[in-house]
Amino acid sequence: MSDSPKSIIVWHRGDLRTHDHSALEAAHNTGLNIIPIVVIDEAIFARPNLSPRRKAWFLNTVTALRESYQALGTNLVVRQGDVKTVIPEFAKEQNASSVFYLESFTPYGRKRDSDVSQSLNDLGIAAKAFDGLYMQRPDKILAATTGKPYKVYTPFMKTWRKAVDVLPIAETPKTLSPFDASIDVGEIPFVKSDIELPVAGERAGLELLDTFLASQVEHYHDSRNAPSQENGTSTLAPYLTVGSLSARIAFNKSNQVGEGHYIWGNELIWRDFNASLLYHFPNIEKEPFNQRWEGFPWVEENTDTFEKDWQAWCTGNTGYALVDAGMRELNATGFMHNRVRMVTASFLCKHLMIDWRRGEEYFRTQLLDGDSSQNIGNWQWVAGCGADASPYFRIFNPISQVKKFGAEAYVRKWCPELSTVPDKYIGLPEEAPEMPLNPIDYPKAIIDHKQARERFLTIAKGYFQKVDAKSAS
Ligand SMILES: Cc1cc2nc3c(=O)[nH]c(=O)nc-3n(C[C@H](O)[C@H](O)[C@H](O)COP(=O)(O)OP(=O)(O)OC[C@H]3O[C@@H](n4cnc5c(N)ncnc54)[C@H](O)[C@@H]3O)c2cc1C
Repeated sequence: MSDSPKSIIVWHRGDLRTHDHSALEAAHNTGLNIIPIVVIDEAIFARPNLSPRRKAWFLNTVTALRESYQALGTNLVVRQGDVKTVIPEFAKEQNASSVFYLESFTPYGRKRDSDVSQSLNDLGIAAKAFDGLYMQRPDKILAATTGKPYKVYTPFMKTWRKAVDVLPIAETPKTLSPFDASIDVGEIPFVKSDIELPVAGERAGLELLDTFLASQVEHYHDSRNAPSQENGTSTLAPYLTVGSLSARIAFNKSNQVGEGHYIWGNELIWRDFNASLLYHFPNIEKEPFNQRWEGFPWVEENTDTFEKDWQAWCTGNTGYALVDAGMRELNATGFMHNRVRMVTASFLCKHLMIDWRRGEEYFRTQLLDGDSSQNIGNWQWVAGCGADASPYFRIFNPISQVKKFGAEAYVRKWCPELSTVPDKYIGLPEEAPEMPLNPIDYPKAIIDHKQARERFLTIAKGYFQKVDAKSAS
């Protein structure tokens, strides 16, 4: 155990920043020497959906966080292993008075924090959780009349907006004293990404935010649904997901006055809403929010048809150009435009009738912003089984959505073999007249749109009739 005076540990997890960090601010206010730490959690790193690109994005952000701490005059300790033992052992070794962190709200995070804080308390070390992972705490926005969590977004958003005018922002220390030089700061492991990654870290996130707010947010109400438009959305989600950007800063910096600002703010509130849903209803990690969907007859897996459809969807070879462009963007960049996420997800669940859980897992593996609460909330919304979900009979038309949202250039960017196909046919290129307009190297549709739609509606209607009859009897 170190003989040095008591220190305080700031434990970073999905909050890889020094700005607007209430645990760091509180630690600084104690006047004790701060030792910031990140533990590469082996339980999380072993998850199949934590793909090399997501690991690399996280680790690059850890490197950037170390640079942030170095710029403040100190450093960041990095360890790997089982957090439940690493944190208490490290805190004991360093004679720490306490461990401060931002409170986690996922089922895994809550259990981890409760186990670690118990072990720390057993050692006589305080564990203190602070608020700041979301704009408002997931347990805070409740219906005034019932005190219960909201299941519908709009009243949640209205109550959310009533509760705050300006969000509280923690102050970033101007400088920090270095910790004991004998502490091994630890190496940050290297994981090779399969894709080129954006520049990681809080500085890059804050710069991107400023650029978006200066040039684009006021047009956001129009641009957000236009996949062809470069920078039509902020592309900040990967930074928000690892916490290298504070959502509170993002919300406060946008003035919320014009339509663009207001709608963009609402998107950030969707993030709080999804977090609140998973917090209050942790079973949605595995089950549909709407229990009527439990038992829905998704297609049988491990059949030839399933494998063929699944592979075509994952690789962007369904013959529906918008679906294929989206999946190719996802695979190549770790990002997909929100409008196209809706279309690709709907195509999987409704046209191919593949269980939303399969798509959710695939998205989470490929997306740099892959996040349990956001991904689950959105997949269940598209499938129809979520809270405040789109009704089951809403089936996105993958052909007409191209024209409706001016996605022609987006489609040609990600499916360059369609460069000669005229706009009229770009949604379903096989309908284009013979070559040279109709490229031979692009797949024919794996399923007929009208037939797929009818199949889903018939099966879903029959299924819900049976469910209703059973619950009435
Ligand atoms: C099937 C499906 C899966 C999704 N999976 C994820 C996911 O794993 N992680 C994730 O962060 N978002 C997810 N989204 C939501 C949304 O698509 C992304 O947040 C958005 O596309 C990110 O782009 P942006 O940063 O340019 O967002 P902007 O349009 O600039 O919005 C600003 C921020 O608001 C939040 N936001 C925007 N739209 C939503 C939304 N529908 N739900 C919740 N928050 C939102 C994000 O944090 C985003 O960065 C998913 C949407 C769908 C339809």
